[in-house]
Amino acid sequence: MKLTFHGACDGVTGSCSLLEIGRTRLLIDCGMFQGKDAEERNTQPFGFDPSEIDYVLLTHAHLDHSGRLPLLVRQGFRGEIIATSATRELTKLVLLDAARLQEEEAAREARHGRRRNRRVVRAMYTTADVENVLDRFGRIAVYNRTLPLADNIRVTFFDAGHILGSASIFIEARGRSIVFSGDIGNCNKPVVRDPVPPPPADFVVMETTYGDRCHRSIASSVEELFAAIRDTFARGGNVLVPSFAVGRAQELLFYLREGVESGRLPDFMQVFLDSPMAISATEIFRRHPECHDAETTALFQSDTDPFDIPGLHYTRDVTASMAINRFRSGALIIAGSGMCSGGRILHHLRHNLWREECSIVFIGFAARGTLARQIIDGASEVRIFGEPIKVRARIHTINGFSAHADHNELMAWHRHLGTPITTYLVHGDDKAIQRMAHDLRKIGRPVELPECGTTYRL
Ligand code: ZN
Repeated sequence: MKLTFHGACDGVTGSCSLLEIGRTRLLIDCGMFQGKDAEERNTQPFGFDPSEIDYVLLTHAHLDHSGRLPLLVRQGFRGEIIATSATRELTKLVLLDAARLQEEEAAREARHGRRRNRRVVRAMYTTADVENVLDRFGRIAVYNRTLPLADNIRVTFFDAGHILGSASIFIEARGRSIVFSGDIGNCNKPVVRDPVPPPPADFVVMETTYGDRCHRSIASSVEELFAAIRDTFARGGNVLVPSFAVGRAQELLFYLREGVESGRLPDFMQVFLDSPMAISATEIFRRHPECHDAETTALFQSDTDPFDIPGLHYTRDVTASMAINRFRSGALIIAGSGMCSGGRILHHLRHNLWREECSIVFIGFAARGTLARQIIDGASEVRIFGEPIKVRARIHTINGFSAHADHNELMAWHRHLGTPITTYLVHGDDKAIQRMAHDLRKIGRPVELPECGTTYRL
């Protein structure tokens, strides 16, 4: 076996690993790079020939794991993509949205470029490219059920408990085994189950997003969120929650419903899910009972929709979204993007960030260089659509909602895998990876920190 890393080696994005077993080539994830130099890195050659890849095994739908699939297919991939049923549906949603954003940006740049005589910016990929990806989806992976591939290779998907449909992938071939963790979920999250660690393996490729941190408990994070909402409404303001559309937004609805039902949140609260993608994702979450945990299953069985709240508005179209600006207080607005790097949240920030009676509640990961990071780090003024906006709203950062396992959970997950010959640590900032490497070595587990393009013989 030969293992080569083609992403997520110096940060949390661009997940992509190539596993060669005899003549068979498997790609585990094909994610997009995000943040600094993203465009350049995404459009560089893959480092392998896409037409020679036989299978793509997809751990989950998030863009940093699926976002370069359209480029892979455009550059010749004709193999089979294998994923769980929920991942397949969510990936379609996520990729179509990514293509649409790129097409819009290219059109905008073309208009400006013509005026300023700049170079023509082309969309990295289009809706048509995404349609071609959908044609490549083959067998559906069912949790815990082994699928045979060519060359006597066997693969089994285990619930990674990160988002709906997410998986850790266990691969066996030639008397050896290797696990790709995918993104490992945070225990006790609503809707999805806790992560199910795969059986002991000879080799492990493992994410380390929160490898250097411990989350606060979910119960105290929920209480902190509710207190922030109550205080803001008492001050006469609105609450903005920048949120990822897939996973986080649905959890949030789940908690808000519990808050209203238990009287911990006011029933006059108007909740706006201001994101077409989050609205569609919520539909997909409803459609996949095979991924639900016991609590969510019981709710549906007793005819309670876990995502429905009195006073909830789905705003798909732009006019309805703009109409939200009429609310000066009592509104809770959930919109993307989670890191405020684009999307409808920017409009809401423009209307509310300068108002001291309002609150911005960050509940997700904010990468360096993003607007969310600037606000969290205490900027007194930021630029939105080129316009300076004062930061006067109260800023809350609540990290207990993370969809990622924290340091202790990652260590516990790894302990289930026995004593692998080597564990390759990826998908983390330098500090997170170093801390995990230190702590795994301390308990006698050999660790490698791969660089992009490095090949290991297993
Ligand atoms: Zn993820």
